[in-house]
Amino acid sequence: MAEFTMELNDEQKEVRDWLHGFAADVIRPAAAEWDEREETPWPVIQEAAKVGIYSLDFYAQQYFDASGLGIPMAMEELFWGDAGIALSIVGTGLAAVGVLANGTEEQIGTWIPQMYGDANDVKVAAFCSSEPDAGSDVASMRTRAVYDEAKDEWVINGTKTWATNGGIANVHVVVAVVDPELGSKGHASFIIPPGTPGCSQGQKFKKHGIRASHTAEVVLDGVRVPGSCLLGGKEKLDERLARAREKAKQGGERVKNAAMATFEASRPAVGAMAVGTARAAYEVALDYATTRQQFGRPIIDNQGVAFQLADMRTQIDAARLLVWRASWMAINGKPFTAAEGSMSKLFASETAKKVTAQAIQILGGNGYTREYPVERMHRDAAIYTIFEGTSEIQRLVIARTLSGMPIR
Ligand SMILES: Cc1cc2nc3c(=O)[nH]c(=O)nc-3n(C[C@H](O)[C@H](O)[C@H](O)COP(=O)(O)OP(=O)(O)OC[C@H]3O[C@@H](n4cnc5c(N)ncnc54)[C@H](O)[C@@H]3O)c2cc1C
Repeated sequence: MAEFTMELNDEQKEVRDWLHGFAADVIRPAAAEWDEREETPWPVIQEAAKVGIYSLDFYAQQYFDASGLGIPMAMEELFWGDAGIALSIVGTGLAAVGVLANGTEEQIGTWIPQMYGDANDVKVAAFCSSEPDAGSDVASMRTRAVYDEAKDEWVINGTKTWATNGGIANVHVVVAVVDPELGSKGHASFIIPPGTPGCSQGQKFKKHGIRASHTAEVVLDGVRVPGSCLLGGKEKLDERLARAREKAKQGGERVKNAAMATFEASRPAVGAMAVGTARAAYEVALDYATTRQQFGRPIIDNQGVAFQLADMRTQIDAARLLVWRASWMAINGKPFTAAEGSMSKLFASETAKKVTAQAIQILGGNGYTREYPVERMHRDAAIYTIFEGTSEIQRLVIARTLSGMPIR
């Protein structure tokens, strides 16, 4: 097991500086434009693909870094550039992780390359779990997958919502109910290959923030996919369902809410995104406070401003510590006995919301305009307390883990 360290090694520093350069030179200058356009920034994704940032190889390298710091460091730098554009670059990763976690080697080899495309023809992928009536409460999912044995095909019907890259993705990964009796234990994930009839984009959402990232409904109307599109394969699914039915019969197992558990290991990565946005806003505010003159002196000369900056930086550093600890635990197989993954996401996302609001206050009237980036950063920061489990759900996970009680 790697020792926990707060010190990046030389190789990690080199990667961080390279990512920071891309974030500063390519992402940040494009941020305001794509926020206004509310469209996927394809040219920026293509640029990221050309230099090797938009690829599975890059994320795999960071992921398998035994220190655990590869992914949080990468997320922090990219989201420091701009959250909407960065989510357009890393959003495909959520679908890729869905396949890596549950797929066979053949499925991984077939579908992940099609999720990314190549530098001359970039593609994106979408992970579709949420539904209009199943957000935090994943067990209420209604999208249904039924096996047609005669044709060895799955028939999928339902509507997914809030899917990042939904409808514009080359490959969609869709979670559906295969056994309604089993709650979230009766779910399975399917690949929807490019151009599958019946799979279409519904409403595209106009959002408060991260507007360069495409978010939409995905409508599945009589979608038929081959048996080989069931992630992990039929045999494994049948075994898993049989075990779940047995446990349900014994009445032993409390059916867990999948939204609360599934993402526990990926939550530090979202925390790292939030740290990136918070740090970006803090840096703008620090710079502004040292140059803006009122009453004949820089506004940072007032404790009322300087102390805010002191608090902002302290909270950002504390958030990063929690994120790095949880990331190190996750990669080294240390169980989250105190829901450390959720703690890191909760604290970092609340910090991003708070710090970006303080940044607006420090910039005064300028902070409230779109001439300065902190207004956009504050809108962007609001997503971190919502997706991959809201702050309330993180608190539930932490409280239940600590107490062992079925807290509601
Ligand atoms: C921009 C964006 C991108 C997204 N991308 C994806 C994606 O790619 N794929 C995907 O599948 N989903 C995605 N989502 C969906 C996201 O994960 C859900 O919005 C989130 O899980 C919350 O679900 P909900 O919106 O239905 O809120 P609800 O579950 O309806 O919650 C509403 C409020 O009630 C609170 N609440 C609910 N239950 C409890 C409880 N038990 N105790 C205390 N408070 C509670 C919540 O915390 C929240 O404040 C995305 C959402 C957005 C906005």
